[in-house]
Amino acid sequence: CGIIAARVTDDATPYLLDGLERLEYRGYDSVGVAVRTAAGTIETVRSVSRVGDLRARVAEHAATVPVASAATGAGIAHTRWATRGAVSERNAHPHADCSGRISIVHNGTIANAGRLRSSLEAQGHVFRSEGDSEVVAHLVERALTVDPDLMLAVQLTAAQLEGSWAVVVLDARDGRMVAAAHRSPLVVARSDRGDFVASDVGAIAPWCETFVPLRDGDVVELGEAWSWSSGGLAVPVPFPTPAPFAAD
Ligand code: GLU
Repeated sequence: CGIIAARVTDDATPYLLDGLERLEYRGYDSVGVAVRTAAGTIETVRSVSRVGDLRARVAEHAATVPVASAATGAGIAHTRWATRGAVSERNAHPHADCSGRISIVHNGTIANAGRLRSSLEAQGHVFRSEGDSEVVAHLVERALTVDPDLMLAVQLTAAQLEGSWAVVVLDARDGRMVAAAHRSPLVVARSDRGDFVASDVGAIAPWCETFVPLRDGDVVELGEAWSWSSGGLAVPVPFPTPAPFAAD
């Protein structure tokens, strides 16, 4: 239903929580956030409740786990409107791969998730949720065993998906972040604080001035220079961007 991701020079968490609050008007059934730690792991907190509850849980969590690192602020967050799988904490996003290295958020519906899941399970992948989205994390994990490049892994993953997706993939190891979209809205944006991704310009509007919408089939890696595989052309769009976003 709603996505916000941040790859910033300071702690990503406040941006993610503020962005989620700005997405609340869309309506959702659960919410979650995953942030890269200074140690190169990912900490995930989810809730079948409002962003206010998630905020409290994150604060509790941060008291025990140092989630922030000035140099490695990277995180992804999601408000879910369930299309596959019950409304439950374990079906809430973000979802991780087996190793916990890859974390993903997904809007839309993966039509061939059942088939993909069977093939992944046959190869030993263990799923923790019932929904369609977790296949994306495992497909990226599988692709990374063939080639270590995250951008390529997400391209290979997207090529196997049917249905609709706006996806952001976070690699715990180095904080690399790749976004991909097909029939579901997603924009990437740059500011002096870093790079942002959102399903709705409003979520990141306070920090960004220019927004670049992904076109169907686009895959983008954030960072110093965006690496863009299309799909479509990368044309900077000055704010305010017309936002013809329909709820998923
Ligand atoms: N199909 C996914 C799920 O049910 C994503 C739904 C959404 O767009 O929020 O978890």
